[in-house]
Amino acid sequence: MARIRYLKPEFFKDDDLACLPFEVRLFYAGLWGVADKAGRLEDRAARLKAEIFPYDAVDAEKCLRMLAQPKKGSRKPFIDRYEVNGERYIQILAWEKHQKPHHCELPSIIPTRQGLVEDNAPYPSDGVRKIIYARDKYTCLYCGAKLAAEPHKICLDHIIPMAKNGSNFSSNLATACKKCNAKKADKLAEEVGLITPKGLGSTVGQREVDHVSDRVDGRSTTLTIMGNGELITGNGELKEKKKQEKKRASPFVPPTVAEVEEYCKDKGYTVNAKQFIEYYEVAHWHDAKGNPVKNWKQKIISVWSKYANGRTTENRRNTENSAPADFIR
Ligand SMILES: [Zn+2]
Repeated sequence: MARIRYLKPEFFKDDDLACLPFEVRLFYAGLWGVADKAGRLEDRAARLKAEIFPYDAVDAEKCLRMLAQPKKGSRKPFIDRYEVNGERYIQILAWEKHQKPHHCELPSIIPTRQGLVEDNAPYPSDGVRKIIYARDKYTCLYCGAKLAAEPHKICLDHIIPMAKNGSNFSSNLATACKKCNAKKADKLAEEVGLITPKGLGSTVGQREVDHVSDRVDGRSTTLTIMGNGELITGNGELKEKKKQEKKRASPFVPPTVAEVEEYCKDKGYTVNAKQFIEYYEVAHWHDAKGNPVKNWKQKIISVWSKYANGRTTENRRNTENSAPADFIR
């Protein structure tokens, strides 16, 4: 299936191309439309002739041979013809330099000269994101910003952007702050004055690098992101880490008036937010029994359900463990 490709003005000024006959130049441009996302295609002269020159008597095999000859100016040819497991293929050289395939285009299924089959992981899921954040210790790999306490600033970055054929493998994913991520956009770190994290960065097809071996919270863990996006952890330590995160997240944080108001509005509770907060603030967020308040929403629910359903003011005031009735409007 043919694809839409770029034809840059330089094509007409390239002096290496100028050495070739007209039809070979046109055939070369025709190959781009047949090639896959990685610039590879099957080496079948008769089929290529039918695809590129259906109405002309052109010797496609001769064209391919000429394109596979080293250029005059350098030792490199325009295309590399090779064989893997008895099948013949073509790699268009300097592909990335001249073509920018759409990121939605399917990855190549044609092996490289080295026999590697191109592959890519699916777009990172929330689970994958969390793994990468943990691997990077919640730190922006570009500016070093600590993001553990600022989850709204954390995001996932493709080290080699998808627009530049960067993969979805974990080796190409980095924790970043939103500022660095926005700065990078569709560029490489070096292009915007940042530095690529050491040892990371992979393009689609670098199948051998889809493992992450790292230490999470000081314990060695092997995290593997499978082709289908599933996460396999070495020994279930990830679950443990999630539990710990939950525990750590529990310390009580007093709400603001706005938070209480919004919550009550959402639930349809008629609670005076300001008075609610003042009541508990005086007691340093301990309830009438002297127990620390762990969940202010729960307090609103219990207080509201106890007192707001038609009970009298006296009843409310006399109830043991009572909250003052006057924060019910
Ligand atoms: Zn940053």
